[in-house]
Amino acid sequence: MHQLTLAEIARGLADKKFSSEELTKVLLARIAQLDPQLNSFISLTEDLALSQAKAADVRRANGESGALLGAPIAHKDLFCTLGIRTSCGSKMLDNFKAPYDATVVAKLAAAGAVTLGKTNMDEFAMGSANESSYYGAVKNPWNLEYVPGGSSGGSAAAVAARLLPAATGTDTGGSIRQPAALTNLTGLKPTYGRVSRWGMIAYASSLDQGGPLARTAEDCAILLQGMAGFDPKDSTSIDEPVPDYSASLNGSLQGLRIGVPKEYFSAGLDPRIAELIHNSVKELKKLGAVVKEISLPNMQHAIPAYYVIAPAEASSNLSRFDGVRFGYRCENPKDLTDLYKRSRGEGFGPEVQRRIMVGAYALSAGYYDAYYLKAQKIRRLIKNDFMAAFNEVDIILGPTTPNPAWKLGAKNSDPVAAYLEDVYTITANLAGLPGLSMPAGFVDGLPVGVQLLAPYFQEGRLLNVAHQYQLNTDWHTRTPTGF
Ligand code: GLN
Repeated sequence: MHQLTLAEIARGLADKKFSSEELTKVLLARIAQLDPQLNSFISLTEDLALSQAKAADVRRANGESGALLGAPIAHKDLFCTLGIRTSCGSKMLDNFKAPYDATVVAKLAAAGAVTLGKTNMDEFAMGSANESSYYGAVKNPWNLEYVPGGSSGGSAAAVAARLLPAATGTDTGGSIRQPAALTNLTGLKPTYGRVSRWGMIAYASSLDQGGPLARTAEDCAILLQGMAGFDPKDSTSIDEPVPDYSASLNGSLQGLRIGVPKEYFSAGLDPRIAELIHNSVKELKKLGAVVKEISLPNMQHAIPAYYVIAPAEASSNLSRFDGVRFGYRCENPKDLTDLYKRSRGEGFGPEVQRRIMVGAYALSAGYYDAYYLKAQKIRRLIKNDFMAAFNEVDIILGPTTPNPAWKLGAKNSDPVAAYLEDVYTITANLAGLPGLSMPAGFVDGLPVGVQLLAPYFQEGRLLNVAHQYQLNTDWHTRTPTGF
């Protein structure tokens, strides 16, 4: 039963082949048995899951239907969950029980989804390896000595290991797409403003966006349907109607114009990944797509701009963790300054502290114009590049990451080496565009992802292309040995 996708679960529940309660019990037992190898969960919510599953079964018995009614999922541990620890992967929030549900959590619960638990993540979503969590590193089910990617690494590892069919993630600079690529999943970062950020603990507010991680595009469509929509509680949420994503999956790709940026194939890209990306282009051509080389000339400036803007916003967002209002408080503070200093010094891990320092520096008087303002100007140039490209093509295709997963600890002494892994993903966040990563093959037994980008609000187009690709390839069906 653990092999079923969300779409298959929906059919099985509708046909009364099994109940949500039965399925939930199977998955909870599987998590108890296998998760100690992976460390993909921070908290399990067995009681909540069983009561939600029973309630979903009653709703179905009363004639209700819906693709998420009774479907087991998990939430990245930065979505606030009423009365349940919401740690953000940090010692700072280890004792924090959220007083309300995030909009995404509330919407999915209302649709009948069953929450099995809260997944592990890089501390405050800062990272691309899931090694900075206070709760320890997450392991990649494809090879337990390798990282699963981050920061939504717990969600990715759990879904890839078939502990559950789908989970939520968030993507500030790639944290849905990059772990999806490194664990052989399909992951979608929606258009900025498509999914409410209310109750999502902020890292960099102008970049953060929640989205689905699942095995197939079909399942991402189902989960996104439950997450997307206008939310008056989030001032950057956009009041646009939500299309029927599942209905968009079967469009023909005949004449679809795919742009492949020449800048993507530079020296930093593993040539074996380049070959797999070219193979995926060939596959889409067979389905009728036409391919064109394009240029994104300002892409080289994306990493420096992102690593100014994201830390700047983080330094401001994380100032609320002061040891007074919520979260960790140091023992026996001498005075108020000592309370602030030690609560923050002891509560935040090294990567979070590094980013707060970088961000505070970039925003300080005298440096603001040279760093923060300059980075914002680059951000606009990157957006303009995309707008020009989308005048010529319908989607942009390239690698999700320059390398496959790396060994645990391999980049710990060099944070910049990890930042470079974000080269293909962060531009979509800087421009606010939707992006999807899907399985495209393997290098040394480790999964590789291909990334698709589309114009604003064209999530349906991304899901359509990915679904058609998945009907004609089987990379996404491969399962890691031992799971
Ligand atoms: N790896 C990027 C960072 O560390 C992106 C993280 C994310 O998307 N949350 O900031």
